[in-house]
Amino acid sequence: MDLGSAVTHLNLIAGSWQAGTSEIENRNPSDLSDLIGHFAQAGLEQLDLSLERARTAQAEWASYGLERRQAVLINIGSELMARAEELGRLLSREEGKPLAEGRGEVYRAGQFFTYYAGECLRQIGENADSVRDGVEIDVRREPVGVVAVISPWNFPTATASWKIAPALCYGNAVVWKPANLTPASAVALTEIIEKQDIPKGLFSLVMGSGRSIGQRLVESPQVDAISFTGSVEVGKGIAGSAIRNLTKVQMEMGSKNALAVMDDADLDLAVTLALGGAFGGTGQKCTASSRLVVHERVHDAFVDKLVAGAKAMTVGHALEEGTQMGPVVSGEQLQENLDYVQLGKSEGAELACGGVRLERQHEGYYMSPGVFLNTNNAMRINREEMFAPLTSVIRVGSYDEALATVNDTHFGLTSGIVTKSLARASHFRRNARTGVVTVNLPTAGTDYHVPFGGRGDSSYGPREQGKAAAEFYTTVKTAYISAGSPD
Ligand code: NDP
Repeated sequence: MDLGSAVTHLNLIAGSWQAGTSEIENRNPSDLSDLIGHFAQAGLEQLDLSLERARTAQAEWASYGLERRQAVLINIGSELMARAEELGRLLSREEGKPLAEGRGEVYRAGQFFTYYAGECLRQIGENADSVRDGVEIDVRREPVGVVAVISPWNFPTATASWKIAPALCYGNAVVWKPANLTPASAVALTEIIEKQDIPKGLFSLVMGSGRSIGQRLVESPQVDAISFTGSVEVGKGIAGSAIRNLTKVQMEMGSKNALAVMDDADLDLAVTLALGGAFGGTGQKCTASSRLVVHERVHDAFVDKLVAGAKAMTVGHALEEGTQMGPVVSGEQLQENLDYVQLGKSEGAELACGGVRLERQHEGYYMSPGVFLNTNNAMRINREEMFAPLTSVIRVGSYDEALATVNDTHFGLTSGIVTKSLARASHFRRNARTGVVTVNLPTAGTDYHVPFGGRGDSSYGPREQGKAAAEFYTTVKTAYISAGSPD
């Protein structure tokens, strides 16, 4: 990818790179003087053309031999892993996460492709005898067809990859609308996919705003399935559009994840998990630990260490050595975060540290990691997803109260407990009402070969990742066969 800032990066429409009807500028949130490039915004006719071409390309792709499809996924995954440093640098430059996180994300994205390369050969159905004599039944999965992928900016390469890799593995075509805040990572991934042995038009990139091209995509009757990650509000709108065409939909939205710290916890471990979970990715993770539910017997000791740890974090340019937390992704997100700080104070929470805009050598969207104390679970800062480097401590008197507080949310993506008690860990694992639960581990950070998703407002539709992804990216066919009698 040529990263001269004067270059306009194009969309991949029906198999060819095309300019758009307009373009946007992409700037580095760590240094606003750093122009990453201009990015084409797809027109509505280009979207329609992509969808039309995807239909025929999908049929061709589905008829490829399994090993031929597998080779494509291996090649994409291997290239992502081999170029993790270079593409991770680009990702960190446009999104703002520290380089180690950007590099790790691109490598992980590669692993999604190599994992699903394996799954290409593991598409094994079921068989049964019919209740009717002489009839046999075979149950197989077939591709769902044309899949719309709508991805967010916070994990621009990994989230897209955990949707695109299974979509291709199970024989589908993809039309991808990435977030407009992180288009460079989208173009880089598209360039890798486009040069593979795939039918022309199987994979399209349609950069543009959610309100225009995104909305047109989710309303299109040409789309068979929509996989979305983003905010609850947009997710609900997408679900409404999808249902009008009876389009299959899968959505992963926000959360308000809690980490419960018990009185028998290893406190140093608890603080490390809380700091990483709350401030990794500048708190812009759907799995972030935004509520810290702490037993009163260890509350003060935990808080002392937590606040000291937050104050000691190095906030800086994502690509600078030693940076532990990069900038917030955009000016709009930064303003929202600062508004939440004011809201928390007005609700009576005590801001123990951070939560203010920072000046650095370069002009950027820097903010210090903030810790709220003396909060309760009814406050809006403990009920709404902030997507900010902000976390709240909620003091509880018992394990039972901790569990009830963890579960008192309309979200339900991840939750965690820090304890040395097997009994509490086991009880928590069974009774936390979240799709993912962790014991003595951060609430953020999951594997690629097992299901991912949540409950309540956090998710809707079949789970993502691992073998569970087959449920969304395929449709089941039940065949009845009467072979008759041999002569
Ligand atoms: P959005 O939900 O607006 O965006 C997510 C994706 O959906 C982007 O690609 C966006 O496009 C697209 N989109 C927006 N509107 C539509 C639409 N009407 N039809 C189709 N696609 C659409 O999230 P934001 O980026 O605005 O972030 C706002 C908040 O959402 C965050 O503060 C956070 O709370 C939450 N969020 C949660 C994420 C998660 O991982 N669960 C990820 C990102 C955000 P575009 O942005 O290009 O306009």
